[in-house]
Amino acid sequence: MGGMDDFIVDDEVEDVGKDKPRDTKAYNAEGPAKNWRACNKCRLLLTMEQFMRLGCPNCPDLLFTEEEADYTKEKTTDEY
Ligand SMILES: [Zn+2]
Repeated sequence: MGGMDDFIVDDEVEDVGKDKPRDTKAYNAEGPAKNWRACNKCRLLLTMEQFMRLGCPNCPDLLFTEEEADYTKEKTTDEY
């Protein structure tokens, strides 16, 4: 094994996501767009359900949970 050169970078990522952190690829908003909400802080689009289930991957300080549905609603917006 040859050390660092063995690290394979997967460049087969769709170009549309290039300006976003790689991880958001796993966080595409599900379902119809009318259900999407944007994180107030980073503008990532997810559904309420996803925010409560996954939290915002870019904003770990925003603690979105099902128990905190009001908070989640407050910290996200449907005006994006
Ligand atoms: Zn965010």
